[in-house]
Amino acid sequence: MTKNKNDNFIHLASPDIQEEDISNVIRVLRSGMLVQGLEVEKLEHQLSTYLGIQHSIMVSNGTATLHLILIALGIGPGDEVIIPAFSYMATANVVELVGAKPIFVDIESDSFNIDKNLIKGKISPATKAVMIVHEFGLAADMHEIKSICDTHGLFLIEDAACALGAKEHQKYAGTIGIAGSFSFHPRKAITSGEGGAIVTNDAVLAAKLRALRNHGIDSENKESKMDFIYAGFNYRMTDFQAALLSNQLKRIESIIEKKQEIARKYMAEISNPLVLLPSFRNNKFHAWQTFHVLLHKAVNQADAIKYFKDKGIGVNYGAQCMPAQTFFKNKYICDSEVEFPNAYKAFTQGLALPIYEKLTAEQIHRIIHTVNQFKINDL
Ligand SMILES: *Cc1c(COP(=O)(O)O)cnc(C)c1O
Repeated sequence: MTKNKNDNFIHLASPDIQEEDISNVIRVLRSGMLVQGLEVEKLEHQLSTYLGIQHSIMVSNGTATLHLILIALGIGPGDEVIIPAFSYMATANVVELVGAKPIFVDIESDSFNIDKNLIKGKISPATKAVMIVHEFGLAADMHEIKSICDTHGLFLIEDAACALGAKEHQKYAGTIGIAGSFSFHPRKAITSGEGGAIVTNDAVLAAKLRALRNHGIDSENKESKMDFIYAGFNYRMTDFQAALLSNQLKRIESIIEKKQEIARKYMAEISNPLVLLPSFRNNKFHAWQTFHVLLHKAVNQADAIKYFKDKGIGVNYGAQCMPAQTFFKNKYICDSEVEFPNAYKAFTQGLALPIYEKLTAEQIHRIIHTVNQFKINDL
């Protein structure tokens, strides 16, 4: 039996799928209406109401959302898109996939979000957009970043893949820029297996996104004549995925509350000189997709991950220093350790701890105890 089969093993993430979610899926399966239809439409209204936004467009995954947004905004070859150096790789990949150039910006060492003070220096005549990431469920400094984008005439795109329900100054992450993107991968707060959503208050952009999602079909066509107005994709969500998500979305606030409760406990009770806790400002409502700490530089990250797994706790590094990955390193030749020191440090010394609804008090205690006890000589 491998360690991970151990019943006591605490996984890094574990979705909370309840009986009512399952019966919703079964109901849709029995109906025989499987692809995008009424369930997706209902979910779009539900998400728009929750976030207080005009338009929600459900799509097949969080990477497809970002890809569609860039295409719909006409971003392509010759254009530059400013992004944080630290995120999940999808953020940089989609910029490449539309033929534009990602311009990486270092992050803040404590919030893990893009350092707003470094953005201006990266703007060039080719810059079309700033695509920020609300890393680990913490909103970036949107107030200041939006004002930079407005001053320079740049699109502000929000990769809110892991920040559903997060807020800055009472505004939901994803609703501040021209368009926001969410993911419903099982690592996020609520899940449809694979799934994503784009939100926007721009009606013209929303119509274009809807058409691009569905082969380029003009969904607004008044004479209901089928006409293809773009070379589009099939980035649709299925109706049974929408049905799986619907009740989870109703529970989102209690899910976040539970995560915040765990985070407060971690912040209050984790105490080990080898572990640096995250920090965030008071104007932010943290959705805690990930609880991410920094290991002391004397700790080897891989050894620490193995140590925790051997103790029955699933931890992992949190996200990538994207310019340090082989594809980007080879294409844009840079020394990430020098150019993006905070992103590099977060990538090489970061550690994500389990934080989800289903964790029991005993499991939370075990996690805290294990983090507090470990010493360099144990690894
Ligand atoms: C999860 C994630 C994505 C990708 O979402 P998928 O649904 O897995 O395609 C993109 N960006 C960030 C910041 C993410 O956390």
